[in-house]
Amino acid sequence: MGENCITFADMKKQEGDSKKQQDAIDQIVGDIVEKKKYVKRNSLLSKLITSSHKKKYEFPMGIGITEEVTVNDACTGCGTCSRLCPMVNIHIENGRPFFSKNCISCGSCIQNCPKNAIHHNREKSSARYRNPHIEIGELLIS
Ligand code: SF4
Ligand code: SF4
Repeated sequence: MGENCITFADMKKQEGDSKKQQDAIDQIVGDIVEKKKYVKRNSLLSKLITSSHKKKYEFPMGIGITEEVTVNDACTGCGTCSRLCPMVNIHIENGRPFFSKNCISCGSCIQNCPKNAIHHNREKSSARYRNPHIEIGELLIS
């Protein structure tokens, strides 16, 4: 499946994988329709990554990526990041976004900023990835 963690993967590569991702989704849909019973066990590496992330990011103790992101001058103050944040963690003041400490590191603000103005200090590249089948407007009304 697609990987949208910008500190872990380069988003440029995710676009090239969209066919593979669609195939995986089709497979899952098929399994659901056929009511297959199947449990995929996590690998040891996956368990280690999850436990290290939990220490830092687990809600409500974590601060997420709040202290690791910067907003550059490309920001127009449009407020999209604020409206998309599921934790109401971003507010716009004087045309600039400010982050509070309820971040769950979902990455929505970073991936969806129309100006690519939000950057993580450990991001693999400045490329961003969005699901090509979903418009930002659809996320805003969901
Ligand atoms: S979505 Fe991007 S351009 Fe809009 S306010 Fe947030 S950081 Fe600025
Ligand atoms: S959108 Fe996600 S990553 Fe961005 S501040 Fe909100 S919770 Fe954190």
